[in-house]
Amino acid sequence: MTTPPVPTPGATVAGLPRSGIRQIMELAMERGGTPDFDTPAHIVAAADEAARAGRTRYTASRGIPELREAAAAAIARRGGHPVAPDQIVATVGGVQGVLATLAATCDRGDRVLVPDPCWPNYVGICALLGLEIVRYPLPAATGFEPDLGELEALAATAGAKVLITNTPSNPTGAVWRRETVAGTVELAVRHGMFVLSDEVYDEMAFDGEHVPSAPFAPDHVVTVYSVSKTYAMTGWRIGYLAAPPALISSLGKVPEVEVSCPTAPAQWAAVAALTGPQDCVREMRDAYRARRDLAVAALREEGLFSAEPRGAFYVFADISAATNDTFSFAEHLVREHGTAVAPGDTFGPGGAGLLRISLAAAPDTIAEGIRRIGTAVRAGVPA
Ligand code: PMP
Repeated sequence: MTTPPVPTPGATVAGLPRSGIRQIMELAMERGGTPDFDTPAHIVAAADEAARAGRTRYTASRGIPELREAAAAAIARRGGHPVAPDQIVATVGGVQGVLATLAATCDRGDRVLVPDPCWPNYVGICALLGLEIVRYPLPAATGFEPDLGELEALAATAGAKVLITNTPSNPTGAVWRRETVAGTVELAVRHGMFVLSDEVYDEMAFDGEHVPSAPFAPDHVVTVYSVSKTYAMTGWRIGYLAAPPALISSLGKVPEVEVSCPTAPAQWAAVAALTGPQDCVREMRDAYRARRDLAVAALREEGLFSAEPRGAFYVFADISAATNDTFSFAEHLVREHGTAVAPGDTFGPGGAGLLRISLAAAPDTIAEGIRRIGTAVRAGVPA
């Protein structure tokens, strides 16, 4: 009897590129990578209490009312566009907020304008949903802000349904100026697009203020937020999005079919984060600013300086003089120098010749890591 052939995996997911960030991170974890800040104790206690009190069942797909209320209040407190709690959807991290927004606004084959360089998950999510990406450049020369004239020309021909913005930015650390945010939203609206404004680093602006997109066109902007970065809660997997009322019904259906709801005790932890004392946020921001300053000084010393980040917690090292194969170089750095960085190429063509260093590490570790990158660059590219 012949054995029936095993079906092959679906081509869409099989063909997805992996995120270079996670590839290197997982390699580093195998070798004992270290986490950074711990989730503040009062937030952990809230999850513990919720679990002990039996808050362990499914919740509404859009999240518990307490989290949606806390999120709406937190957005208003931070100067965002005021929204009602029923314009909030709690998500499994900001990443699911991005997926839900694209799933709810686009149909297979639609186009999406994504920044270059950008967080690679935008590209992966588009591939998963059968959406075509068109990259718009964020040149280093303009401080990684789009040239509005160029973006206008691209928007006019791309026929895209959604334009993704991300400020403060991963990976560039740019904090877009008010006129850039306003101009980008204005031209997106004029060309019939929704704006997906990824503001998960909104509380991590060191220089200049974070400018939210939604106030410029509330009916056209979906804003993606997260507690991951702000409260050192990356493993809890809670984010939230704020959307115009016309999109909420569609947005709410995505978590319903995809995850049922975010984890219940983690939602209670997020309530404690958003409603509790906020000193932890300022403390972490100050620490990241100090690390940014230290990293920039070290990169200048090693001759690897690229640009000074104004927010988020990443900084680029420019290794273009040594190599353009940033994937191989990042792998070599982990294996031979015990230093984990993200290869610039994973962020798109705009990341060529760059390595992204995370500031979510102790200052000594960052300084030592940059010294090791300098040593590796001087030693030459491995064959
Ligand atoms: N957007 C950007 C730009 C990010 O860098 C990240 C995390 N790296 C996210 C969204 C998602 O974060 P989370 O799912 O942990 O909330």
